[in-house]
Amino acid sequence: MALIGITVCRKLEDYKQAILHVGGEVRIVDPSMSVEDALKGVDGLMLTGGDDVAPSRYGEPAHETVVEAEPGRDEFEIALVNAARARALPLFAICRGVQVLNVACGGTLVQDIPSQVRGALPHSLKVPPNEPYSLAHEVWLDKDTLLSQLMCERLSDADACEVNSRHHQAVKDVAHGFKVSATAPDGVIEAIEDPTARFCLGVQWHPENFWRTGEFRPLFEAFVEASSRQA
Ligand code: MN
Repeated sequence: MALIGITVCRKLEDYKQAILHVGGEVRIVDPSMSVEDALKGVDGLMLTGGDDVAPSRYGEPAHETVVEAEPGRDEFEIALVNAARARALPLFAICRGVQVLNVACGGTLVQDIPSQVRGALPHSLKVPPNEPYSLAHEVWLDKDTLLSQLMCERLSDADACEVNSRHHQAVKDVAHGFKVSATAPDGVIEAIEDPTARFCLGVQWHPENFWRTGEFRPLFEAFVEASSRQA
């Protein structure tokens, strides 16, 4: 049985259910804990959604649309990423999570897609709270990536899939050692991964919202499975 540390956020339930439904156990970790305590006995780390990473973390002044996350979250989550990677723990990062992962590893972010990406699709969908799985746009999966390999289990043609989308930022400069594993048709980076890690994947959409119907179940299964294996 794998114990998955999940970073606290405002919409925890679907993240928890997505892990529980593939046989993982859950510990919610929050900035009141030390990184040491948060990761004690944890087999894998999941980074969740939320507001923006402070642009000072990647050396830029803040765009006027930036809404910073709860105090302490950036510092805690960046330290968690570094500690988890130092321990070779499997890491699955979602929405704000992929942005934290990229910044923690030295990358940068597009601070505001609508004003900074020419011809951008709508990525920041306002959907009713009971319909978080409403589909927004397609993503194109890069071949020879973990993401495309895993999605092959669900899709006959694993080159593309439809995703939900509730973000106004995205990965800009990809952190050293990572590669892009999915892109939206407007060029916005939708997923990155570290090909040298056991499991280190970040996606910009919200696969956890689909835990009832299983569209992205292979991602959670592979994450928990990687976390169950002996390092
Ligand atoms: Mn999107």
